[in-house]
Amino acid sequence: MLDKQADSAKPERSLHALFGGTFDPIHYGHLRPVEALAQQVRLQQVILLPNHVPPHRPQPEASAQQRLEMVKLAIEGNPLFQVDDRELQRTTPSYTIDTLESLRAERGPELALAFIIGQDSLLSLHKWHRWQSLLDVCHLLVCARPGYAKKLDTPELQNWLEQHQVTQPEKLSQQPNGFIYLADTPLLDISATEIRRRRREGLSCDDLLPRAIQRYIELQGLYREP
Ligand code: ATP
Repeated sequence: MLDKQADSAKPERSLHALFGGTFDPIHYGHLRPVEALAQQVRLQQVILLPNHVPPHRPQPEASAQQRLEMVKLAIEGNPLFQVDDRELQRTTPSYTIDTLESLRAERGPELALAFIIGQDSLLSLHKWHRWQSLLDVCHLLVCARPGYAKKLDTPELQNWLEQHQVTQPEKLSQQPNGFIYLADTPLLDISATEIRRRRREGLSCDDLLPRAIQRYIELQGLYREP
């Protein structure tokens, strides 16, 4: 771990974060852990990035516009969050690393920038396009998610994690990129898959996502088809 390295008293910068997802639909399993994380590591801002899903992958049931609308409803009146629809605007899919590099280019090399993922995404990160370049552009902040292993698949991957891991959140704002922080966020056993299934089966989703999104889903007739 890097915490034990010499800790020169660098001035604290503000920490900005991005949170990508299919958000089909966005739910409390996305929102609550990230809100807790924002408190823990003192995030100034979280930009939600709805993904453009490439055609060879299983397609979201909601359209890009509907997923964007649901994200907007989720963050209405919450100044922590903003939405960035650059991936949805593109006609071709973009990899996360490309989006992060374009944001880094826009915001300059000094800004402390983090990308938020859940524990399941950390476990499959080594399958992402140019995954090893992610830490050249940002930090990784990992939210706990129930039902997923704590250790990475291989000793090499676990070693990579431990080499970059920090346990003191203050570190994150002291350098622009390069650290991994495993956050102690509330465990919410919620997935979009489960919400879509419950909706098809006519079951209540009351505790799983905000009421305004439930109303939107109802009005748009989403997640009805078997
Ligand atoms: P699906 O069930 O359709 O695969 P999902 O609920 O996993 O969707 P995504 O939009 O794929 O949601 O997830 C976006 C990001 O949010 C990922 O990094 C994922 O790890 C994280 N995430 C999703 N649900 C949770 C949860 N309950 N707790 C912590 N992190 C979560």
